Amino acid sequence: MENKKTILIVEDEKNIVDILRFNLQRSGYATAEAYDGADGLAKARGSNPDLILLDVMLPKKNGFDVCKTLRDEGNNVPVIILTAREEEGDKVRGLEIGADDYITKPFSMRELVARVGANIRRTTELSHSAAERESGPVPLAGNLSVSAESHMVFRSGRPIDLTQREYDLLTFLAAHPNKVYSRVDLMEQVWNYGYVGDDVRTVDVTVRRLREKIEENPASPAYIRTRRGMGYYFSSAAEAQ
Ligand code: CA
Repeated sequence: MENKKTILIVEDEKNIVDILRFNLQRSGYATAEAYDGADGLAKARGSNPDLILLDVMLPKKNGFDVCKTLRDEGNNVPVIILTAREEEGDKVRGLEIGADDYITKPFSMRELVARVGANIRRTTELSHSAAERESGPVPLAGNLSVSAESHMVFRSGRPIDLTQREYDLLTFLAAHPNKVYSRVDLMEQVWNYGYVGDDVRTVDVTVRRLREKIEENPASPAYIRTRRGMGYYFSSAAEAQ
């Protein structure tokens, strides 16, 4: 029997936790729960969930602080922020501190389960120690290399902390060098969403974060380039920086 993926629900409204648990379990996931930010952080660290659904307004520690703390600690578990209102500021802030996605309350369970499926880590992340030294990462371009097995990207041989979404975006673009993708294309291909709307902003924020991590000069990127008015592409001409 296949191991179930575990979703950690961090949410202080019990009725929302109940309905999330019910629907996620029905969709084949195991669940864990925390009702405040401090406990959520402890369970994220201790129980190694495959994905976290993270409310923003929480007792003890808000969702942004929980997410930021995890990222600062090098924890790249996929995080979906549950925002209470249609506030662009909350969405962008969540993505900027390293969340993979956000969903606005009230949400449909069908949409939420689809988002969970689209964001969950598709392969078990290996430690990038022993196994990595044996096979070694494969050159991507310039001074970037990648290990598909452990989902790690290296810059001049040093591992870079990427979220799952940043990794997916980089490897998708790099797999089709010099081909320009619009933000709508990327939402569909990388985010696996069949709809768009305002959410294309997500692509811009993720590109910006990715550039800050992989580019020598994020303001003048060598790898992830912008084709003005059209979209983004991975430049195969990038030299070792
Ligand atoms: Ca709340």
